[in-house]
Order: sequence, then C-alpha cells, then structure tokens
Amino acid sequence: MTIIHDLSANENAYAPLPSVMGVVAGAGERSHRYPDRFSKELTAELAERLAVPAEHLVLGVGSVGLIQQFVRATAGPGEQVAYGWPSFEAYPHLTGTAGAEAVHVPLRAHTFDLEALAGAVTERTKLVFVCNPNNPTGTVVHRAELERFLDAVPERVTVVLDEAYREFVRDAEVPDGLDFYRERPNVAVLRTFSKAYGLAGLRIGYAVAQEKLAAAVRAQGTPFGVNAPAQAAAVASLAAERELLERVELLVKERGRLVAGLRAGGWEVPETEANFLYLPIGSRAEEFGAACAAVGVGVRVFPREGVRVTVGTPEATDLVLSAAAGLQG
Ligand SMILES: *Cc1c(COP(=O)(O)O)cnc(C)c1O
Repeated sequence: MTIIHDLSANENAYAPLPSVMGVVAGAGERSHRYPDRFSKELTAELAERLAVPAEHLVLGVGSVGLIQQFVRATAGPGEQVAYGWPSFEAYPHLTGTAGAEAVHVPLRAHTFDLEALAGAVTERTKLVFVCNPNNPTGTVVHRAELERFLDAVPERVTVVLDEAYREFVRDAEVPDGLDFYRERPNVAVLRTFSKAYGLAGLRIGYAVAQEKLAAAVRAQGTPFGVNAPAQAAAVASLAAERELLERVELLVKERGRLVAGLRAGGWEVPETEANFLYLPIGSRAEEFGAACAAVGVGVRVFPREGVRVTVGTPEATDLVLSAAAGLQG
C-alpha cells in the first residue's frame, strides 16, 4: 500500500498557513536577487522576542546546518564530541565529516544519562550535545539535573542544548535552555522552524550563544546559505505564532491519545514531550513497521532496536492504533 501518512521524519502534519505561503511566493518572485546575507529582519525579530542581543544569534540552514557549524568551530582530528545514544543521527554523521571522534554514552531508561555524560568528558572533549527532548526517544532531562551537569562540565567544553522540539514540551520541569546560556559562555541553545512551525522544507534554524562562541559558529556558515523564502517564511511564522501554536496544541493532544491507546494495548511507551513517540520493541521493530505500512502509514524503523512514530492528524493516530491492535503489545 502507498504511504498516505508519512510519520517517519517528525515533520509537522499541517501545511504552512496561507499567510506564510503568500510571503514564500512573494520571495520566490525575487529569486534573481541574493538573499539578505545577514538576515537582518529575522534576526531583529528573534532578538526582541528572546530578549537577547542580535550578536548572540546565528541563523543556519536548518539546525542541522548549525550542528555542522558547531562541530567545525570546536572539534577536529584527535578531538572528541560526546552525546547520549541513541540520539539525533546528525551528531555522529557531522562529527565524522569534521574528522573528530564521536563518543556515545548509552541512555538510561531511554533518557540522557547526564552523570555518565559528564563522566565521559576527557581532555580531548570539545563539544557535548544534550538533546532535550531527545530524538528518537522523546524523553527529557529536568532543570536541576541539567544545572548539575553544566556545573560539572569544564568551561572549555562547549555544550549545545538542542531544543528542536521545545514547543511540544508540557512538563514544567524542563528548563528553557536560554536561562543557562545567559550565565555560561560555553552553553548554546539550538532551535528550528522545521518542527512546530512546519517549515522543514525551507531549511532554517537558529542558535543562541554568547558573542565569542556565536562569532566562531557564524564564521563556519556558508555565505548567503539561508535563502530569502526561508527568511521571509520564518518572519511570517513568528507573526502567525498564535495560530501555529494552536496546531501544536492539537498535536500535543493527539500525542496523548496515541500514547494512551498504545499503552492500553500493552505496548511500553517511554514518556514523550516531543511530536513523536518511541517503541523500544527490539526485534519486533520491522514487524511493527510493516503493519503500519500495510495501513498506509510510514514510521521510522530502527532495525532490532525500536520504532519512532511521529504524531500526525487524528486519522493517522487511528491508523497507527489499528495497526498496533493487529499485533500483540
Ligand atoms: C529535527 C531535528 C532538528 C532540526 O533539524 P533542521 O535541520 O532544523 O530541520 C534538530 N535537532 C534534532 C534533535 C531534530 O530531531
């Protein structure tokens, strides 16, 4: 059966708002011109909303582009980049292309083990990623443990708090990473327009860090890399934030229904604060993926480890639950 609901890449189930599509089309008409290299309008808008100086913002070609810039700015051959594992696949990939060594610290109960991660820091560690909520497990770390972690990590090590799913978090104990960056010159926060704002196809995200780190990361960017339709769409999305966050609220509700339905069917689902959930079903991952495909739903299968399912429309939730019901939880 063809895939009707693609729940494999944590994309937003909803297309951009008409107001956002309008500015993208308008920017397209000016495609013979280079974009604003410094993304001045978007930078000013973000600076005001986040209450940070414009010099502390770095825009990138998605937050994946910024992950690459952070790695290149901090680590090279003979040096290490550490993070929990499993986590976002861009971390090992871009660590490898920079010639640095990836250090994988196993999750504990599907969650970043910050004590173990701090313990894995060596003389050669240059960069650490904390993915909060974590992709692919959806789990979070809380304010107090993150603060202890940051106290334990030497200031010469850069710590990136990847908050790609921040808008989906409803657990009040999950910190706003910006509270940490303000007091710590080695801490950066990474955010994206790809998930909650539904602009994955346009490739735009941003980092917030104090001036010296921000400048080093900015220097690694491709000049004119952030294109004009992406800049315009991001500005329009911030202007339409209320409407977009209503859609996020719908997805959060749907997440609750999907998690509850799976658990009622006997499936173990770790607590998730993102727009996806994870089933740690090991050898049954492929079977679950095939059952979803049979009802027209694409999910992300990690062979022999588990399945990640993005939360989509109510119809998609019903299909996943029906596929799961045909198997034994
Ligand atoms: C999806 C995702 C991103 C965002 O990537 P973009 O390049 O901004 O689309 C960043 N970090 C994590 C952990 C993600 O899952």
